[in-house]
Formats: sequence, structure tokens, C-alpha cells
Amino acid sequence: MQAARKRENANRDKAVTALYGSQWQKARAVFLREHPLCVGCATTGSITPASVVDHVIPHRGDVRQFWNRENWQPLCKPCHDTKTAREDGGFGRARIQTAKTDSDEA
Ligand SMILES: [Zn+2]
Repeated sequence: MQAARKRENANRDKAVTALYGSQWQKARAVFLREHPLCVGCATTGSITPASVVDHVIPHRGDVRQFWNRENWQPLCKPCHDTKTAREDGGFGRARIQTAKTDSDEA
């Protein structure tokens, strides 16, 4: 049923929002104190302070995955945004073909 599915999504959204409460704020502050540097930038040799605690595997409302510290990583905002954009369907987007011809070549 359409309505049921809609309600399910709304419930999940509410549940996800509820996860990011004061308990999370406290936990992420502790985590960032212990892991102050962005792991994304570290792979390219840059040292950047992390400001976001990212879930390596998106938790999608799964409470166990959400609180699993093994699944947390410190990221800076730009790295987090890049990762999120990729997860939200950046892949599979058709690449625009450049209209380049070989006619100039002999
Ligand atoms: Zn970074």
C-alpha cells in the first residue's frame, strides 16, 4: 500500500532525526577529540581538522550501525560533502560527451 509505505518512510525519517540528539552530540564531541584529523585528507597527505563524524557504512536509521564506533570516521566538511554526494547517486550519471572531432588531423 502506498500510504503505508509513506508512513513507514516518515517514521524512519523521524527515527533518524531522533538519533541525532544530545547523546549523539556528546558522543561525536568525544570522538572528534580522540580523532581530531580528517581521514579523507590524510589519504592525500594533508592534515585537516575533522569537524564531522561520518558513518563509513551509511546507517540508514539502523540504531546498531549508528552507534557502532567501528563504523565512525572523522572527516572535514568538504570530504563529508563529497562522500555524501557520491552516495546520493553521483555514480551512474551519464558523462557528457565532448563534441570533439578528429577532422583537424591529417
Ligand atoms: Zn578532509
